[in-house]
Amino acid sequence: MDILVIGAGVSGCSCAHKLVQAGHRVTLVEKGRGVGGRMATRRMDGARIDHGAQFFTVRDHRLQELNEQWIKEGRVSDWYDRVPERPDIPAGMRYRGKLGMTDPAKSLSQNCTLGLNFFVEKIEKTKTWKVFERSGEGRVFEADHLVITMPSVQMLELFDRSGIDLGLDVMNRLGAIRHTRCLALLGILDRPSRLVGPGAITHPTEHIDWLSDNQVKGISQKPAITLHASARFSQKYWAVPAEEWADQLLGPAEDLLGTNVSKWVSHRWGFAKPVVTFGESHHNIPELSLTLAGDGFGGERVEGAAISGIEAADSILGRVVS
Ligand SMILES: Cc1cc2nc3c(=O)[nH]c(=O)nc-3n(C[C@H](O)[C@H](O)[C@H](O)COP(=O)(O)OP(=O)(O)OC[C@H]3O[C@@H](n4cnc5c(N)ncnc54)[C@H](O)[C@@H]3O)c2cc1C
Repeated sequence: MDILVIGAGVSGCSCAHKLVQAGHRVTLVEKGRGVGGRMATRRMDGARIDHGAQFFTVRDHRLQELNEQWIKEGRVSDWYDRVPERPDIPAGMRYRGKLGMTDPAKSLSQNCTLGLNFFVEKIEKTKTWKVFERSGEGRVFEADHLVITMPSVQMLELFDRSGIDLGLDVMNRLGAIRHTRCLALLGILDRPSRLVGPGAITHPTEHIDWLSDNQVKGISQKPAITLHASARFSQKYWAVPAEEWADQLLGPAEDLLGTNVSKWVSHRWGFAKPVVTFGESHHNIPELSLTLAGDGFGGERVEGAAISGIEAADSILGRVVS
């Protein structure tokens, strides 16, 4: 069967991987330049910065199997388990990509056909599914089965542009999915920070949820930070230019780091943590040859998104979900 997966985040990639393993031909289309979605790594002035998800946990046996493979391939390593003097932070190994958080998605997608820089404008169901690109090369893909893994707000916009209505119940449940927002700052440090391993501090101040030095983390040659604002701060300043709020975060961060941020950029993550989910790990509609997945279904974290993709593939393959 020819299967097309929209969205090359971890849910789309884990779904695609499982379908390829079962012998299907899978095309992954993604609006970004690379795979990974919110597992994002970015280069800035010679530094490498994980700017979305910072680590992943491996509690489910299906993710354990994938993780063992990634470790074998040299793409993933342990990061940290317990944080010294922080009994409030739950124990449990956190893993990271060796060269950044995009590494697992690169492994999962290696046997798929990739359609990158492909913004899906419209989908159309006749005997098969057709997927149309917004602009650029005007590419059109065709497949027997379609999997959609983008965040629910974007999914509903796509259905609207395509004139697709999945019925009141499904449309209402999609409309109810909610994610928190996250304002992020990525910055170059003018000298190494005083952070020690693992190189990350969680909730050091009321407004900062996460502060890490990607050099101490082990992915960057140069000292460079990732700073995630709290959900409350992010909500409050969402529509405000970064120049007007960045100092409130950078001042305390520089005190903690013992060095200065010489250059920074901001990023707005519209979908950080799902706080209301669909109520099923994925949604398969066999009569339409259509399956929906993502962290809005599987629940928060990389792990929830990956399991959503895996269980979506199981449904397509007609297997009982374990
Ligand atoms: C700031 C931040 C920090 C986080 N920290 C952690 C963490 O430390 N640990 C953890 O476990 N989780 C963390 N998460 C959550 C985790 O990143 C997500 O739950 C997970 O990566 C979601 O994967 P996904 O495949 O469901 O969605 P995504 O990764 O969003 O993938 C969906 C893909 O669809 C693509 N897309 C959207 N619209 C279109 C279109 N029209 N055409 C083509 N492609 C399209 C997008 O570009 C994207 O690549 C964090 C998230 C954020 C934002």
